[in-house]
Amino acid sequence: MGTELPFFGHIIDGEEVGSLDGATFADVDPYTREPWATIALGGKADADRAVAVARKAFEEGPWPRMGYDKRHALIHRLADLMDEHADELAMADTRDMGKPITQAKHDVARSAWNFRFFADHARMRTSDVYPMDSGHHAYTRYDPVGVIVAISPWNFPLMLATWKIAPALAWGNTVVLKPAEDTPTSVTILARLAIEAGFPPGVFNVVHGYGPDSAGAALTTNPDVDRITFTGESGTGKIISKVAADNLTPVSLELGGKGANIVFDDADIDNAVHWAVESIFRNAGQVCLAGSRLYVQRGIYEDFLVKYKAAAEAMIVGDPKDPATQFSPALASEEHFTKVSSYLNEESFGGGHMLTGGLSEGWGVKPTIITDAGPDARVVREEIFGPVVVATPFDTEEEVLALANDTRYGLNAMVFTENLSRAHRMAARLNAGTVWVNCFFIRDLRAPFGGQGDSGVGREGGDFSREFCTEPKAVVMQITQ
Ligand code: NAD
Repeated sequence: MGTELPFFGHIIDGEEVGSLDGATFADVDPYTREPWATIALGGKADADRAVAVARKAFEEGPWPRMGYDKRHALIHRLADLMDEHADELAMADTRDMGKPITQAKHDVARSAWNFRFFADHARMRTSDVYPMDSGHHAYTRYDPVGVIVAISPWNFPLMLATWKIAPALAWGNTVVLKPAEDTPTSVTILARLAIEAGFPPGVFNVVHGYGPDSAGAALTTNPDVDRITFTGESGTGKIISKVAADNLTPVSLELGGKGANIVFDDADIDNAVHWAVESIFRNAGQVCLAGSRLYVQRGIYEDFLVKYKAAAEAMIVGDPKDPATQFSPALASEEHFTKVSSYLNEESFGGGHMLTGGLSEGWGVKPTIITDAGPDARVVREEIFGPVVVATPFDTEEEVLALANDTRYGLNAMVFTENLSRAHRMAARLNAGTVWVNCFFIRDLRAPFGGQGDSGVGREGGDFSREFCTEPKAVVMQITQ
């Protein structure tokens, strides 16, 4: 008899439970390629139960009625518990998807901050007042919408889920979260901590399962859901958008990307090399915001590539559980490894060639740099979602703008230059939800976050999350003279 694996159930109505039909699935550690946990496999019945419980908690429970101060205190208590359990939360993400433990710890800190920020933001709310010449005045109320379903991906399991849960809860809604099937454990620990923090039952529920014909599809088609916030692939976002339309359920979609990273010849080269490494090799390139298309001005192109190749090859590869590891040799799952490796062939390079990289052992792909790929190559056009970057030289600002904007995605772009006016010109003309100048991955939670084109619909962050998580209501009053 082998050792029993830890079990992670659904969290519904303040209790951790198995599926109604008893179904489970194995959670595989991509580094060892062995199951390390057993997960409740939810279906429609479990999803419907979670929505019904969340509805009851919203209609009858204390959460929407307790006021901002009390909710703020509970959410901050949860953030404090996350800090206390940071090692456990981080290790859960590392075991689930192979993320180096130092990066997972960074994600936990940001996740706790998500709760603190959105609790503070809601508590410090203001409302607009519109004095009218007619002897009336109008003002805006921001009331919670009800039940919000959040569906999250596997690449930043805790962090991306908390971006959704935190504003939804802070504005007084109840939540049903379905994490990605590859990364179910950290959010289960989070929901256990919410119970410990004193959240009323039914306020924050987690249902595990797959997408199609499973818990995911059941949640997105349930007519008793008031909002759906989804992060994942563009194709899945289109499916969810269609099914949600049948119930007129508003959706927020954070989808794929193919970020352009543009380096001008006046840039601080060491800084640009540093971020060119971080933006595509951090988390093994399994990042929607990855700088997967690198454009370098011709005068510095060859020198840049020498430094870039050396930096990519110098990354410390090892067991993701080891704090020294910078780059995990394992992608998140066998399925994802199969997808990423399908790009590593001459046909996909469209005339380009591999400067460094390729397959490694297990489900691994090394930091890979492709040069001279044609603009129609698969590696240039499609989101690979792995540690694969395509480097291309350019001559002029106009030329690189055309190249960078030649994509169906529009999530983010980076510009490296010391020329202030050029930085502003580029920021204005790049089709992207976020443009970073001389940096990457820095986020102010008050600022809008989201994508254009196939990268998404809607924005998250600060007031943008408030718009989604509340029903803004105009109240018009007559002032009797
Ligand atoms: P995915 O679309 O395969 O799955 C995401 C989630 O949706 C999972 O929980 C999955 O179970 C669920 N799902 C799948 N099909 C469903 C359906 N028919 N109905 C309901 N739910 C369904 O995406 P993924 O592979 O987990 O994540 C990687 C993708 O996410 C990449 O494209 C990446 O760019 C994108 N992403 C975007 C952002 C952003 O902020 N824009 C952030 C991270 C990841």
